[in-house]
Amino acid sequence: MYDVVFYRGDYRDRQRQANDDGAVCYVEHHFNSYASASVGYAVTIVGSNASPTSKNWGRWYARSVGETFGVPVGGSEGIVVGGYNGRGDANVRYTRMPAVLLEPLFASHPQHAASIRSESGRRRLAEVLADSIRRFFPDGGRVAFSVGHKYKASNPHDRGAAVVGGGTEADYAELVLEAARDLLGRPEVEEPARRVLVQKGDEVVASIWIDEDSTVRWDPVRDRLIIDEGAAVPDAPAS
Ligand SMILES: [Zn+2]
Repeated sequence: MYDVVFYRGDYRDRQRQANDDGAVCYVEHHFNSYASASVGYAVTIVGSNASPTSKNWGRWYARSVGETFGVPVGGSEGIVVGGYNGRGDANVRYTRMPAVLLEPLFASHPQHAASIRSESGRRRLAEVLADSIRRFFPDGGRVAFSVGHKYKASNPHDRGAAVVGGGTEADYAELVLEAARDLLGRPEVEEPARRVLVQKGDEVVASIWIDEDSTVRWDPVRDRLIIDEGAAVPDAPAS
C-alpha cells in the first residue's frame, strides 16, 4: 500500500526529508512553458546522477502522457538527464531514491492549457502518474510528492508559469498530485484467478479455481479433465 506525503520547503529540504523518511520514490510536478505557443511535448527531467530506474520511469511516464494526450515526446526518448542546461537538476539530484520532475504538458500551449484546466485532463494525468508508480514501485511504501514552485520557504509567492486561459502551473500541478494520491490510496483491483466450469446441458454443475498458469486438457482415454501444474481447489461439488 502507498503512503503518499507532500513535502514542502525549499527543494533541497524536501529531498532531505524524503530521504530521512525512507521514501521509495519522489515526484516533483510542473508544467512546461515556452515563448512560442505552438511548442508542446511531454518530457520528464531526471537528475544528472539518475539511476536506470529513474530514467526508465521518466521515459515510461512521458511516453504514456504522449499517448494519452496525443502529444509528442520531448528530450531523449522522453527524458532530459540533468535538466535543461542544469535547470531542474537540483530539484531531484539530492534524493536517494528514484526521482522524476514531470513536465507533462505546456501551460503556454492553448490546447495543452485546456487539458490542464479541465478536471478530466487532470484526472488522466493523475491516472498516468499513479499507474507509473504502481508499475515501477509495486511493493508500495512512502511516496514523496513535491508541488513545483509552491511552498518554497525562500520564495513563498512563486507559482510558476501562467496557464493560458487562467490559473497557474503550481496550483494545477497540486490538483493533479492530489488526484494521484487519491488513486494510490485505493486498493488495486485483484486480477481474477482462472476458473474452470463443468457444464451439463445448459447447467453449470461444477466449478474449480485453478492456477492461472495451468494447462487444461481432456484425456479421452480415461474420460478425465487433466489440469497440469498449479493447485486445483474444488469449490463446488459435482452433481
Ligand atoms: Zn515549473
